[in-house]
Amino acid sequence: MLSYRHSFHAGNHADVLKHTVQSLIITALNEKEKPFLYLDTHAGAGRYQLSGEHAERTGEYLEGIARIWQQDDLPEELESYISCVKALNQNGKLRYYPGSPLIARHLLRPTDKLSLTELHPSDYPMLRNEFQKDDRARTERADGFQQLKSKLPPPSRRGLILIDPPYEMKSDYQAVVKGLLEGYKRFGTGVFALWYPVVLRQQIKRICNELEASGIRRILQIELGVRPDSDRFGMTASGMIVINPPWKLEQQMNNVLPWLLKHLVPAGTGHTKVSWIVPE
Ligand code: SAM
Repeated sequence: MLSYRHSFHAGNHADVLKHTVQSLIITALNEKEKPFLYLDTHAGAGRYQLSGEHAERTGEYLEGIARIWQQDDLPEELESYISCVKALNQNGKLRYYPGSPLIARHLLRPTDKLSLTELHPSDYPMLRNEFQKDDRARTERADGFQQLKSKLPPPSRRGLILIDPPYEMKSDYQAVVKGLLEGYKRFGTGVFALWYPVVLRQQIKRICNELEASGIRRILQIELGVRPDSDRFGMTASGMIVINPPWKLEQQMNNVLPWLLKHLVPAGTGHTKVSWIVPE
């Protein structure tokens, strides 16, 4: 089943959280000279047209990126992320939103590598076209979870692995844990970043419990909620689970989440969280 299209959701509050964390991790990896691999298991189309039919139909970006990208008091933790958004929208109008592969492309250095997989028959060709002229990148129409076995460890022995499935199938909630364990077994020093939606809180508790029981250490959980948990209203929050986070990430997210909450959830119905599922 491949009915999910990210173009309906691009730039929403969940993308803002995910891409903030992604850009902070890449910025931290850039601090060391040695090149690294950026592996995006569920890469999407790469670029999303916000004036297109899909994004206009839901208007989700209006309550996400549109609320923050031109704020004057932008926290420094958002600078690299927002610089990617601005690079795509140079005339001051918000027409395009960069997906995770474009954010990586903007922030990676000439010596780093990108490995991007996407399965959807419409989104994959768009992704491939975006990266046709980028020698650092390899795109494949392939199963993302499989990459956690076949692409790890990278030759450079440094890397960020973003795992961002649509969770349209309930089995994704189990597949992400299995995939993380398989990836970690091969590449225990990599930075793994898993995105999750809070639709049923129990599903996320199960992921956290399974990771806690796995024996893996240094697992950080970051969350931004827009409404109280409920099993009736779809996604009420989203989060990132990061294995081996850069040492500054916890503090950076503690700094920036209150600002994001204020701007993205002005109604005051939201919450934030930064806590260790398993510490050092
Ligand atoms: N990571 C993207 C970003 O942040 O811009 C968004 C990805 S979107 C949430 C999930 C994507 O996974 C969809 O484009 C979907 O077509 C794709 N997908 C679904 N199942 C997949 C699989 N098994 N392997 C690879 N991609 C898959």
